[in-house]
Amino acid sequence: MSENLDVLNRYLFEDLHVRGEIVQLKQSFADIIGSHNYPEPVTQLLGELLAATSLLTATLKFEGEISVQLQGDGPVSFAVINGNHQQQMRGVAQVNGPIAGKDLKALMGNKANMVITIMPKQGERYQGIVALQGDTLSESLEHYFETSEQLTTKIWLDVDVAKLRAAGMLLQVLPDSQDKQQQHQDFDHISQLTATVKSEELHTLDAEQVLYRLYHQEKVRVFEPQPVVFKCSCSEDKCLAAITNLSKQEIEDHIEEYMTIDMTCDYCQKTYHFDRQKLQPILNPQTQH
Ligand SMILES: [Zn+2]
Repeated sequence: MSENLDVLNRYLFEDLHVRGEIVQLKQSFADIIGSHNYPEPVTQLLGELLAATSLLTATLKFEGEISVQLQGDGPVSFAVINGNHQQQMRGVAQVNGPIAGKDLKALMGNKANMVITIMPKQGERYQGIVALQGDTLSESLEHYFETSEQLTTKIWLDVDVAKLRAAGMLLQVLPDSQDKQQQHQDFDHISQLTATVKSEELHTLDAEQVLYRLYHQEKVRVFEPQPVVFKCSCSEDKCLAAITNLSKQEIEDHIEEYMTIDMTCDYCQKTYHFDRQKLQPILNPQTQH
């Protein structure tokens, strides 16, 4: 059994106009689920979203962050995964009502969108919104790539909820290719090979073994693997900044009643406590040095 999980591998077909990615996740997925007690279909959805966001993050050509958010009028009002170019991921879902089914519509409702936000460290942020298409997240993502990037893309997502494992593969035509017909043929050929991947293989074999099984007749160049980790970006300073949005009176009243203001991060569920002492910079800014 493979121990090389929580790794993203990018690869390229030397003689074809296609590139690919494979991601296999366990600990990062478990950390995101944490003690949230999500219903099983929501855990499944977050696993798919995590694998998808990791794959998308690896398509970035620059340093920055990406967030893939689903919003809808169903029992799950939103589910989001944020990732950055270092493959540091976090995510959360909001469940508002009883869940009657497993598919995307049953979870997100009939009016649901996928919002993809790309935030480069330098440069402008970009947001793409597509209506959720079909029954699966991968179909919606393929549609997103087709419309926003004009790049033929295929995505496979696979989650084992019982073992908390999530995996995904992505194939994409190379944008610089001239011969469109050849590009299509190459892409179809590699897609057919990739579609034969078994869930069991994705979750238990090393990426190298999976790629060998699928593409042993092709010349594949595999790049340096990238570890994927759960990392929350919350901090005491960010919470304090949020508290400054309250009025001085609201803060005083709350402290009077509860002794502290407690803020719990939606993503990692860490609670930050602010007692009167810690709130001095807000309550008495003039005493600050
Ligand atoms: Zn946090």
